[in-house]
Amino acid sequence: MSNPPRPRLAVWKFASCDGCQLSLLDCEEELLALAEKVEIGYFLEASRKTLPGPYDLSLVEGSITTPEDAERIQEVRRASRKLVTIGACATAGGIQALRNFARIGDFLSAVYASPEYIQTLDRSTPIAAHVPVDFELQGCPIHRFQLLEVISAFLSGRSPAIPHYSVCLECKRAGHPCVLVARGTPCLGPVTHAGCGAICPGYARGCYGCYGPMESPNPPSLSLRWRALGASERDLHRVFRTFNAAAAPFRRESEAHAD
Ligand code: SF4
Ligand code: SF4
Ligand code: SF4
Repeated sequence: MSNPPRPRLAVWKFASCDGCQLSLLDCEEELLALAEKVEIGYFLEASRKTLPGPYDLSLVEGSITTPEDAERIQEVRRASRKLVTIGACATAGGIQALRNFARIGDFLSAVYASPEYIQTLDRSTPIAAHVPVDFELQGCPIHRFQLLEVISAFLSGRSPAIPHYSVCLECKRAGHPCVLVARGTPCLGPVTHAGCGAICPGYARGCYGCYGPMESPNPPSLSLRWRALGASERDLHRVFRTFNAAAAPFRRESEAHAD
C-alpha cells in the first residue's frame, strides 16, 4: 500500500533580504525530519526543482513594493490553502517601509543613475494589506523554533502556540537583570513582541524592537520613561522608526515625536 501524499509546502520571496528564509535552512537538525513530513513544492532558496500548486502551506517572506509583486501575491494566495507571513518585511513592510515616510522619487534619484527605468510603488506594504493571511510570525529575522512551531501547528490543524506578550517576560524568565531599571539603559522590551528569548538584555544591552510590537503595547508610557533617562524627541522619533516602522503602534509613536 502506498503512503498518503505529504502536504505540499511552498516558500515565497517578495521584497526582503532572505534572512527569514535562511531561518528555515538554519533548522539543520530538524530539517530532515521536516522533509519527511512535507513535500517541498516551491523553495527557490533551497532548490531549483518546483512542483505545481495548490500548496497546502505557503510561507511568505517580504513586503509588496512593486506593481508586479502586487499581482504575484494574488496568484500565491490563490495557489495556497494556508498562507503564513514570516518576518518584519511580510508582517509590517520591513525596513523598506521607511519609504512610506518620504517621497520615493527622492530615494530613486539619489540611488539610481537612471531612475526612469525603475518601476516601484510609493509604499512598502505588508502581505496582509493585499490578501487574507492565516497567521503572521513576527521578527527580523524570525526565530527558527517559532517557525517550526508554526509549521507543525498548521500541518496538524491546530493554532500555533506563539506568545503575544513582551520581551520582558522572556527576560525575567531567563533571569537577566533589567537593564532599564538597574543600569538606566533605554530598552524597547516592554513594548516588543516575545520570540528571541531576550537576547540583547542577556548581553546587558537594551532591546531595539526587532520583533515588532507586542499585543496591546503602550509606547507612550515607555517614551515617558525614556525621556526621564535623557532621550530626546529625536531619539524617540528614530527608535520607533526601524524594522517595524510601519507597524501601527510604532508608527504612531514615531509620529508623535516628529519635528
Ligand atoms: S524580516 Fe528582516 S531578516 Fe526577514 S527578510 Fe525582512 S529584513 Fe530580512
Ligand atoms: S531589560 Fe528590557 S526587556 Fe528586560 S525586563 Fe528590563 S525593560 Fe524588559
Ligand atoms: S532587539 Fe529585542 S527583540 Fe530583537 S533580539 Fe534584541 S532583545 Fe530580542
